[in-house]
Amino acid sequence: KGLLERFKKGLAKTAQLFNVRSWFGRKVDQEFLDELESRLIQADVGVVATAQIIKSVREAYADQTADEELVEFVKNQLKELLHDPRPDVLTVAAKKPSVYLIAGVNGSGKTTSIAKLAQRLRDQGNSIVLAACDTFRAAAADQLSIWAERAGCEIVRGAPGADPASVAHDACQRALARSTDVLIVDTAGRLHTQTHLMRELEKIKSVIQRQIPGSPHEVLLVLDGGNGQNAIRQAEMFTKAIGCTGVILTKLDGTAKGGVVVAVRQTMKLPVKFIGVGEAIDDLQPFDADTFVESLFT
Ligand code: GDP
Repeated sequence: KGLLERFKKGLAKTAQLFNVRSWFGRKVDQEFLDELESRLIQADVGVVATAQIIKSVREAYADQTADEELVEFVKNQLKELLHDPRPDVLTVAAKKPSVYLIAGVNGSGKTTSIAKLAQRLRDQGNSIVLAACDTFRAAAADQLSIWAERAGCEIVRGAPGADPASVAHDACQRALARSTDVLIVDTAGRLHTQTHLMRELEKIKSVIQRQIPGSPHEVLLVLDGGNGQNAIRQAEMFTKAIGCTGVILTKLDGTAKGGVVVAVRQTMKLPVKFIGVGEAIDDLQPFDADTFVESLFT
């Protein structure tokens, strides 16, 4: 299936909220603008971006009749908000391995996303080592091992409760020794306290940096799209601690809050690199702003 089809299927709930056809023929008056505003807010586009869009629509279309052209106008507004001069693909290291550090709270879809990402990179011909640094959640490491085996990746894991930084260290050594293309590092998503968690992530990152200079090449934060604006608060916290370079936004298929993509981009200035639009292994898709916007208005 094509990207647009996948996006459409995955974003159906948000698209339903916009229900563009119902706009046609209506007068662009205050009532119309209020309703548009409320839909954008409900879709978690965010207050700032919503205000900006409403203002532009008012200026361009006040007292006119809503039609196809107005929809195109709103689409272009969203595309502009999502435009990111940085490439939406993952940075590849000049010298192997490319190291991708993955963070996110438990339940965000981190384990599943890592499996999907590993499969995708494997399908592209890369050799992969997975580092299971969430040594507190044995079930997560088990799950990751199953995925790893299925995808033909090697996994480095420690004994339950082992020092995550030492697992990261061993995984770096393994990847270097094997001249592996990609090292994906999973991390814990919950510890006794938030401070504790952030400190551990910093420690893992600095171990990786020491073992493989210039790495990590990406620090990807996994966020549950259904959390809407709460996801933004998580992004702020993680970015402060470990400097995220991009976001994997999951579970967009289960929510009407797909607009949170705009909020992540606007508030956090972080590119959305991948979106999760289902539970299957190929339901992690590279984010494309134009395709994303088009699939919200169908
Ligand atoms: P973790 O605790 O962050 O490692 O989360 P998991 O990877 O175990 O995912 C939690 C649940 O969310 C699982 O049931 C996954 O199948 C589900 N999940 C993850 N990503 C997606 C997605 O994009 N769409 C849907 N519908 N479910 C997802």
